[in-house]
Amino acid sequence: MNKSNKILLALSIVLLLILIATYYLFLSKDHYVPDLFVRGDIEDVINLKETSSFNQVKIEHKGKKIKVYKLEDVVNRALPLSEEYELVLSGNDGRRAVIDGKQLNFSYLNYSSENGWEVINFNHPISSNIKLLKNITVVDKKSDFFDSLTIITQSENIIKTTVGELLTGSYTKKPFLRGSSTLNVDGQLYSVDVYSEKRVISLADLVDREILGRTVIYNKKGETLIHRDGFLELTNNKISYFNSESEEWLEDITGIVLDAPLTSNKDVFYDSLHYLEAGYKVLVVLLDGFGYHQYNYCLDEEIIPFMAEIENSSQAITSYKPVTNTGLAAVLTGKGPQENKIYSRDFKHIAVDDIFKKISKMSLNSVYIEGNIKILNTSIEPILNPDLNQNGITDDEIFKKTLKQMNGNANFVFVHFHGIDDMGHTYGPYGEKTIEMITQSDRYIQELAQNWPGKIIITADHGMHSILNGGDHGLVIYQDMFVPYLITDGGLKDE
Ligand SMILES: [Zn+2]
Ligand SMILES: [Zn+2]
Repeated sequence: MNKSNKILLALSIVLLLILIATYYLFLSKDHYVPDLFVRGDIEDVINLKETSSFNQVKIEHKGKKIKVYKLEDVVNRALPLSEEYELVLSGNDGRRAVIDGKQLNFSYLNYSSENGWEVINFNHPISSNIKLLKNITVVDKKSDFFDSLTIITQSENIIKTTVGELLTGSYTKKPFLRGSSTLNVDGQLYSVDVYSEKRVISLADLVDREILGRTVIYNKKGETLIHRDGFLELTNNKISYFNSESEEWLEDITGIVLDAPLTSNKDVFYDSLHYLEAGYKVLVVLLDGFGYHQYNYCLDEEIIPFMAEIENSSQAITSYKPVTNTGLAAVLTGKGPQENKIYSRDFKHIAVDDIFKKISKMSLNSVYIEGNIKILNTSIEPILNPDLNQNGITDDEIFKKTLKQMNGNANFVFVHFHGIDDMGHTYGPYGEKTIEMITQSDRYIQELAQNWPGKIIITADHGMHSILNGGDHGLVIYQDMFVPYLITDGGLKDE
């Protein structure tokens, strides 16, 4: 072969390659690949239309060698919220197969113009090979409450679900008007209304009853909406709440309280100021981690005689997230996290005036008695109480300090006991030591009351629920969200 022939051959090969490349490019551009969503209890929604970042593997299927995607790779990319999940594979024709997330090692996804997206499971019964696959829904099987939606009443946790579970259940598709526009063509008006479809479930349908009372909705950030009835909207990995009449909207919700009480521990702020303005002294006793259910139990057991005698008692709701910083901030500011900006344990700086500031503006004196650590940046410094006798709790030190401070010139004494929460975490909300701590707190309050010539408000920052070894709080469940709220008069009436 001479030189010019070689060049000609090389040129022909290059030309051929360009032609092939153009053909494939043209083919892939022109070819419509349908959506295949990985959705549900995951962090990132994936549309498999964009396959460029996934590796393909070669398998033999029905006598043919084909290139496919590993189902496991695709699902892992979506970051499932827990390691225990099911995959619900649903096809366009309504067929679906459910497989365990732990058994994906021989499952593949294939795209062909004949079958669309298709799942090929080598180790599962053939019926799991769904063609014209439309959605792969990850459904969390783990039984913990994080990343789930809970719906509760004042005494019951009625629903715990996830977006994955709701997406695989029944919902309605509703068109919602997104906007209208009009074009003027030669004096003629052409208008169009654009709708988008939402997957919705009415709250009343979900809980299977009429929604009559006050409904409080929380999102994961700690933002709150108060409503009666509304809809849940399911996006591919979030549940949001909206009310189409008021057009209020809360994204990524985590809990709903039905028939929520009007009393909240935020009332401490308003009630205290009210009494102080009326010339009373006020003592506030905050019993950390004392849930309403524990209070009820102790009433039944007749082991808190002092608190049992208080007639002005209500079940109060605390703020989300039911942890100390958030609950304490709500009590001290009369506002929820949306306004005071204390959303969780990670926050310390209060964005609004606290009660101590308000009281100093009234030219009255406040004292704030804490445990061994400062929790929030309050406008007055708390008096801290280390565990001097090293008996493992600070309540005895706090109690003595409070008695001493009450004899001073303070119009407002705020005392935060921690023993019930400490014992609750270690022994559970009904542990023997926890219950003993509650009865001990009752005795402390009784003695404080006998020495206090003014009003007394007793409440908690949050409740406590049982876990495998002890107790915890931080969820929208009735055990964590509700606390007692008691108002009484001090004085030496019992002697
Ligand atoms: Zn607490
Ligand atoms: Zn705690």
